[in-house]
Amino acid sequence: MENYLYHHIDELSGFIEKMDNFRNLYIADFSFDRVVQKLHITLTKKDKHDRYKVPITFDMLCQDVRQFHMENTKGFKINPILAVRIDGDFLYFQLQQGFISFQASSFHFKVPTTDKISNLNIEYVIQEFKNFQNMNIITIRFDHEYVNYKIGYDLHSDTLYWASLLFDGKRIKFKTVEDLFEAKLYEGQSLRMRWSEVKIIDILEMSLHDWLSFVEHSVTTYVSVDRNEQLFVNGVKIDGYIDEQKKCCHCSKHLCYSIPYDTYFCPDCNRWEKGNQINFSSLLYFNNRPLEPALMWKPHKYIRFCKVQFNTNGKVYTYHCPDDRIIEGDWVQVPVSIQGVQKNAQVVKVFQQAANRPPYPLYKIRKVIGLSDPVWQHEPKTQLKSPPIQTFEICQKSLRPHDIVCDLTQKKASIVECKVCDVLKTPVGNFWLEYNDQPIKMTINTIYPQYDDKYFVEAIYKIKPYQLNSEKFKYLKLRTDINLKTARWIDDLWDEHQTGNHWQVDKYDIGIVAHPFDPDEFEVHSTKVGIPYYVEWLEEYQELYDFTVAWKYFVSDDDLSLWFQVG
Ligand SMILES: [Zn+2]
Ligand SMILES: [Zn+2]
Repeated sequence: MENYLYHHIDELSGFIEKMDNFRNLYIADFSFDRVVQKLHITLTKKDKHDRYKVPITFDMLCQDVRQFHMENTKGFKINPILAVRIDGDFLYFQLQQGFISFQASSFHFKVPTTDKISNLNIEYVIQEFKNFQNMNIITIRFDHEYVNYKIGYDLHSDTLYWASLLFDGKRIKFKTVEDLFEAKLYEGQSLRMRWSEVKIIDILEMSLHDWLSFVEHSVTTYVSVDRNEQLFVNGVKIDGYIDEQKKCCHCSKHLCYSIPYDTYFCPDCNRWEKGNQINFSSLLYFNNRPLEPALMWKPHKYIRFCKVQFNTNGKVYTYHCPDDRIIEGDWVQVPVSIQGVQKNAQVVKVFQQAANRPPYPLYKIRKVIGLSDPVWQHEPKTQLKSPPIQTFEICQKSLRPHDIVCDLTQKKASIVECKVCDVLKTPVGNFWLEYNDQPIKMTINTIYPQYDDKYFVEAIYKIKPYQLNSEKFKYLKLRTDINLKTARWIDDLWDEHQTGNHWQVDKYDIGIVAHPFDPDEFEVHSTKVGIPYYVEWLEEYQELYDFTVAWKYFVSDDDLSLWFQVG
C-alpha cells in the first residue's frame, strides 16, 4: 500500500490526474459518520462478469467533512464513476447516475502498490543457493531494462553455479556462489553491485509470489536483519524491526514490529500479537493488515477458513479459522458486528483456499474467536438450500380511508421521482412498509431500464421509509400481497451489500432485496419466506438503506438480470 495524504483540496489535482480521475472504478464500500464528520469510501476496479474475481481496491478517508451531498439512484454496484474532479472547494464524484460531493479538511488515499514483492535479500538468495534449495533457475531483469538474464546451479557439474547472459542460454560457470555474484558481467558491474535494481521474474518457472508461498525453503521461517537494520523474513523485505525487549508468549523468540500495521507479530508462530481481537473501531478505516503475518512473505499461501451457521436453516457465513483444532461440527464463538458483538455458531465446513483466491474479500473477513458450547442440534443439511415456506403468514393490507396509493400499474415516465405514499401498486402486486408492526409512509423511486439494457428488467422500485424516527427501532419490514408461499424460490440475490431472494410467481421473476451496510453485520434478518427486513437501523448508513423490488417476465433460473439490477 502507498499512502497519499493531502491537507488542502488544491493539492489533490495532480494525484487525481495520476489516477486517471478514478474513471470506471466502482464504490465498493461507503460510510459517512455525520457526528465525527468522517467519510470512508472504498473504490474498486471490478469485473462485472466475474463475481468472484478479487478486485483491486483503493481507500479514501476524509476528515472534517462538510456540505455532504449524495444522489445515487442506481445503486453503487452498477453505477461506475465517470470522473472525480475538483469543483471549487468541493471534491466531486460524478457517477453514471447521480453524484457525491463534499468538502473536507484532509484527504487520505491508500493505493495498492502494483509490484508487491519483486526482489529478495541478496544474502538470502546466496544462502539458498549454497543449500541448493529450490532455486535451480532464477530469471532476473534490471529495472528499466527489457533483457532477461538467468542464474542458477547445476548439481551434475563440478563448476556448480552459472549465469547466462544472452537469450541463447550460453552459460558462464563458477565454482562458488561468491564468484557468481562478484563477476562483473552486467555492463562492467556485478550482480552484487546492481542487486538493488534486480527484479526477480521467476524462480523454477514459478512467479515469485508462488515460489515464496509454496516451495520448501532451507529454513521454514528465516528472520534476518541486514547491515542497515532492514528486516527480512525468508528474504522478503518487511517494513519493521526485531524488538529485543519483547518475546512471543508461545515460542519465546523475539517479536517483530510491523511499522505500517503498528502491531507486533511472531514470524515463527504466524501470529499477530493481540491479533485475536479485531480492533472494531478501526475496522471501518484502514484495516489492511493481512489476516496472518505470513501473508507478508507468503502472499499466496493457503489460508484456513470455515463456514458457520447461526441456526439450522440460516445463512452460511465465512470466517477465518487458523486454529486447526476447530473442525466441522464444532461450536465456535464468532464476532458478528462492528460493535464487537459475539455469537455462537456451528461450523458446517472447514476448507483451505489460496490467499489470492479467497472465498470472501479478505479485508472484510473476521476470525473465529474460539470454541464454544452447543446452542442447537444440527439438522440434516438437505434443509439448507431453500427458505422454508410452511409457516407463512398471509399479509393482507386493507386500505384505510386516507391511504395514499402510488399506482404504477400503468407505466408513464421513464423515472418516477420520490412520491410519498402508503401503498405501492405494481403490475405484480402491492407493497407497503411496516415499522415496529405499524404501517408507515414511504417514498418510491422507480427505474424503468431501457429495452436494450443487457440486464433488462421491467421495473425497479426503490422503497425507503419516509421520515423514520429510529429512536425505538425494532424492525422495518417490507410487506406484500404477492403469494410467495406458493411461489417457486429461484436463488438468493446476495452480494457484499445486499441480501434477498427472487422467486418465480406464474410468469414473473420477482426479486426483493435489502441494502444493509454489510450483510454479514446482521443489520438484516429474513422472514420465513425469505423477504429481508431490517433489525438494526444505523444512522450513519441510512442513505444506503432501502428495499429494492425488481421484476421481469421469467426467462430462466440462470438469468442474472435481477441480481445486477437490484444493486
Ligand atoms: Zn500475488
Ligand atoms: Zn512465537
